[in-house]
Amino acid sequence: RHLKKYFPVKSGLFSRTVGQVKAVDDISFTIRPGETFGLVGESGSGKSTVGRTAIRLTDKTAGDVHFKGVDLYQLSEPKLRQLRPRMQLIFQDPYSSLNPRVRIGDAIGEALLDHELASPAEVREQVQEVLASCGLSSYHIDRFPHEFSGGQRQRIGIARALILNPDLIIADEPVSALDVSIQAQIINLFSHLQETRGLTYLFISHDLSVVEHLCSTIGVMYLGSMVEKASRDELFRHPLHPYTKALLSAVPVPIPRLKRERIVLKGDIPSPANPPSGCKFHTRCPFAEQRCREEVPVFRDAGNDHWVACHLV
Ligand code: SF4
Ligand code: MG
Repeated sequence: RHLKKYFPVKSGLFSRTVGQVKAVDDISFTIRPGETFGLVGESGSGKSTVGRTAIRLTDKTAGDVHFKGVDLYQLSEPKLRQLRPRMQLIFQDPYSSLNPRVRIGDAIGEALLDHELASPAEVREQVQEVLASCGLSSYHIDRFPHEFSGGQRQRIGIARALILNPDLIIADEPVSALDVSIQAQIINLFSHLQETRGLTYLFISHDLSVVEHLCSTIGVMYLGSMVEKASRDELFRHPLHPYTKALLSAVPVPIPRLKRERIVLKGDIPSPANPPSGCKFHTRCPFAEQRCREEVPVFRDAGNDHWVACHLV
């Protein structure tokens, strides 16, 4: 609720603080158990910071986060550590977090030992089980990271998160580095694991076509703010915010007759250190008016639990 994360901007010889970047600027949302909440936006919109602050891997500036009824930022360090296995993060590039000299079985099993969730004798069996559920076999257990393809490495990343038997998985661009055909396989794996294990996902992506197949609710972020949030069907059928419409117009559709008019955005996302006044999207919005430059639009329910921040809606 009202989550904010500001980073100081430092400059000069004495690293004096000269300003701040509002990476996450007052965002509220709920993820229901068993659902997949998709967080979409260009790079630099604050998605990853939301993901990290949502599980207290990075400290927040303001607001609060409740996980299964527990106020995460009120927990003592030991209590937080106890809860850690329940919330796991999966990265875009699992390879960078794998030690090249550690066998995959040991890399996956080490978290179990760290959290004292299994004895050394039990670890191998549990690792085999989790590898199998991620589409790898016991043949892989004694191999090294460089022996795997990109898709297999992401399966290893998922296995490492799953070994702790989490409830919530934050997946930060987990398929962005993969070829399209491999992306589909990994997305199917996420779906299958959700059905069989009752997982809840916060799925972060810059690509709407990736979240379309997986997410029940989607939030669209722009420069640290959430500009639109709705169920997947509602968002894809009736997008309200010009930024969402622009993102959607770039998603290929199978039937040409349904093709949306292509909205091409001008320029790049502005620097979050110096965001535009009023509606932060006004410098790129094809519909911007005088009011948009002056007044910040309120994020409000436009009906059907469809939330949007735009003066023209
Ligand atoms: Fe565009 Fe104005 Fe709506 Fe912002 S408030 S999205 S600038 S029309
Ligand atoms: Mg990111």
